[in-house]
Amino acid sequence: MTLPGPPAVALTIAAVLLCLGPGAPAIAADYTGRLVDAHSHVPNATAIDAYVEAMKRHNVSKVILLGVGGVQKDDPAWLAAAAKKYPDRVAIGVPVPDPLAAGAADKLDAALAKGGARAVGEVHVRQVSRKIDRNPADAALGKVLDVAARHKTPVVIHAELNDTAAAGLEQALAAHREATIVVAHGGEAAPARLEPLLARHANLVIDLSGMHFQRTPALATENGPLDPAWKALIEKHPERFVMGVDVWAARLFEPAMLDRLFKWTRRILGELKPDVAEKVAHANAVRLFRLD
Ligand SMILES: [Zn+2]
Repeated sequence: MTLPGPPAVALTIAAVLLCLGPGAPAIAADYTGRLVDAHSHVPNATAIDAYVEAMKRHNVSKVILLGVGGVQKDDPAWLAAAAKKYPDRVAIGVPVPDPLAAGAADKLDAALAKGGARAVGEVHVRQVSRKIDRNPADAALGKVLDVAARHKTPVVIHAELNDTAAAGLEQALAAHREATIVVAHGGEAAPARLEPLLARHANLVIDLSGMHFQRTPALATENGPLDPAWKALIEKHPERFVMGVDVWAARLFEPAMLDRLFKWTRRILGELKPDVAEKVAHANAVRLFRLD
């Protein structure tokens, strides 16, 4: 028996590829194009340094830093300092600690009038773990949406969508057509719940942040394939999704963890059609949040 020379190796590879057949899943390459993290947070004044180093390693052009909804009173100061230190990489949102508080809309109006902010939020409407359950159609939240719309700034909303919250969200979308509502983390909902909302409301955008292997629901495990129902929904509405990492806890800012999260992000994006991946990874966020 002789060892196969190069032509035999080539034939063997060709034979293996043929055996996989047309129905076999293609092994997609990682997405290598431009990437924006449209939804992250910082847990203190210094974590941004490790994050920006990871952005450089993984070729992430921008991050939108948001407040965590009243949990961290220093969010406005930390966000402003991060944007000042890294003006080319960091864009920031205006934190809204409690959207139903008296004067929340006026305060937001004043903050947006100063200029510089690219988003509003994160606004927590329904978060079960924190026992927050606000009506998305509440009149006070409506005022926040109207102020944001006037400043042409999208509102990032955390809403874990059950039937009631989804109905309230739909009312808010219909009543405030000029406002863009970005539902974070896929609304922690199944694609089947989001599909009709996307079809009916052009002012709805879905952010895929925090749907990584450390959380549920996830788009994919650390090494597994992108959920086919999510892939189908994203490819049906390629203009309506943005990608994000949603780091917030200090432990997620370890360089090795950030590497795993960005590697996963690029692997998942690589499973989408290339033109869709570029929109979700970059173009949609640039357009929505005016990042140019
Ligand atoms: Zn978040």
